Amino acid sequence: MKPEVEIYDTTLRDGSQGEGINFSVMDKLRIADKLDSFGIHYIEGGWPGSNPKDMEFFKQARRRRFKNAKLAAFSMTRRKGLRVDKDELMRQMLEAETPVITIVGKSWLLHVTEVLRATPAENMAMISDTIRYFKDHKRIVIYDAEHAFDGFKDEPDYALATWDAAEAAGADRIVLCDTNGGCLPNEINRITALARTRLRAPIGIHTHNDCGFGVANAIAAIEAGATQVQGTINGYGERTGNCNLISVIPTVALKLGKSCVPKASLPKLRELSHFVDEIANFAPDPRQPWVGATAFAHKGGMHAHAVGRLASSYEHINPETVGNSRRVLVSDMSGRSNILAKARELGFKLTAETPQLKTILSRIKELENEGYEYEAAEASLALLIQKQLQHRQLPFTLEGYHVSTRGNGSSSVCEATVKVRVEDQFAHTVAEGDGPVNALDSALRQALSKFFPQLRKLKLTDYKVRIIDSATGTAAKTRVLITTSNGHREWGTVGVSENIITASLQALADSMEYALMRGT
Ligand SMILES: [Zn+2]
Repeated sequence: MKPEVEIYDTTLRDGSQGEGINFSVMDKLRIADKLDSFGIHYIEGGWPGSNPKDMEFFKQARRRRFKNAKLAAFSMTRRKGLRVDKDELMRQMLEAETPVITIVGKSWLLHVTEVLRATPAENMAMISDTIRYFKDHKRIVIYDAEHAFDGFKDEPDYALATWDAAEAAGADRIVLCDTNGGCLPNEINRITALARTRLRAPIGIHTHNDCGFGVANAIAAIEAGATQVQGTINGYGERTGNCNLISVIPTVALKLGKSCVPKASLPKLRELSHFVDEIANFAPDPRQPWVGATAFAHKGGMHAHAVGRLASSYEHINPETVGNSRRVLVSDMSGRSNILAKARELGFKLTAETPQLKTILSRIKELENEGYEYEAAEASLALLIQKQLQHRQLPFTLEGYHVSTRGNGSSSVCEATVKVRVEDQFAHTVAEGDGPVNALDSALRQALSKFFPQLRKLKLTDYKVRIIDSATGTAAKTRVLITTSNGHREWGTVGVSENIITASLQALADSMEYALMRGT
C-alpha cells in the first residue's frame, strides 16, 4: 500500500556532513540495511561524483537486495556551459546504477547570479536538461529545490518558474528545501500550500534545524500537503543538523494519523536511533524526544505499585509504541517486549512463556549495568540468548593470550600470542599487527582456522572504542564495538572491560563464536 507520507533518509549524505561523523563504506552499508529493514522508503547513499568512498558504496550496494527501500544517488544539476551528456558528474550518477536520482538545483535568483554566476535562463536550462536526461535513462527523479523558501520570499516568480521547469522536465517529486534552516513554520506552511496548488507532482520537504524547527517545519509542510519528508536519523547534519526522522516518523504516524513506515516498525524506532548512534560512535542523547533514556522517565515520590498507573497519565504516548520504556518501572534498556521482538528478529523462538526469559532479561540488565550495549552488537546478544536457551558446549576456549609492543621512536609493531583449545586439542599462534587489536585478531583467527577453516574469510571491518562511566565509581571502563564481515553480511559484537585489550578480545571471540553458531 502506498504510504500517505514517504520517508526519504539522507543520513548517509547530508547527515554525514555533521561534525564528528565519518562513516566507512561498511558503516554505510550496515546503516542502509537497517533503514531498509525498518521500512524507510528512500535511502540517499551519497554523491557519487564527490568522493571515491561514495562510489564504492554504490558499487557494493548494487549487490544487495533491498526489501523496502529504493536507493538514491545525489548530485547537483549539470555544470553551466556544458552539455548534460558531456558532464562527467552525470555519467558517474548513471554508473551508480540506482533506481532513484536526486538532483539539487537553484531556486533563489540571488544564488544563480552571485554564486553560480549564471543567467536566470541558463539555470532553468540546467534544471530541465538534467532532469530530462535522467528521465530518458528511466530513473525516478527527485528534484531538491535548494533555498526554495528563501528564494520564494525574495523573488517568488523566479522560484516558481524553476519548480515549473523541474515539473515540466518530468521530475517525479519536487522537494522544497529550507537550506539555511531559518524559516518559520507558518512561512513553510504558506509557501508549501501555494506550491501544492500550482504543481501536480507530489511535493516533498527538506529542512534544517538552525532555529530548532527542523521537525516542526517538516510537519508544517505535511499539513500543507507535502507527501515526502527528507531528513536524517537523530537529526545528524551540518551546523545544527537536519530534520530528525526519529521525531518525524512517530509524529506523522501517531499525531497526524497518516500512514508512513510499516506499523510494525514503530516499536523498533528506539533501536534504529541507537544503532545509528553506535555506528557513528556517538553516545545516544538521553534527552532525545521519543527515544531518549529520559523521554519517559518519571521522578516523584509515588509508591512503586502506583507509579505504573499514575505515570501513564503524565505521558503523551505509551513509551512501548516507539520501543522505549518507562524508567521508574523497568530497567532503562531492556523492556521485556523489546527483547522478545529482538530475539524473534534474531531467529529465536522466544515467547513471554519461555521459562528462560526471566534469566535472559536479568542477565541483559546486569550486563547493561556493566556498560554493555546491544543495539549495534546483535551477534553478542544472539550468543547471550543462545547460551540461556541451551547449554551447549562452547566451540572453543581461550586458554591464554599475550600482547606486546616494540617501538623505536618513529614506528612500532605489535605482536600477539593466543592459545586456544578445541575439545582436547590446542593451537598456539603468534601474529603481528599494526596495533594490538589487529595483532590479536590475526593471532586468534589463525589459531581457530586450524579447526574451523571457514573463519579464514572473515574480516574485521570496523573497530570503535568508547570510554564509559563506571557504575561502580572506580576505574573508567572501555566499551569496544567491532564489526566483522564474511563478504556477504556483517555483524556487530561488543566487549566491556577496564582493560581495552580484554574488551577487544571479548568482542573478537564473540564475533568468531557467532560465525560458527550461524555457520557463516
Ligand atoms: Zn540539506
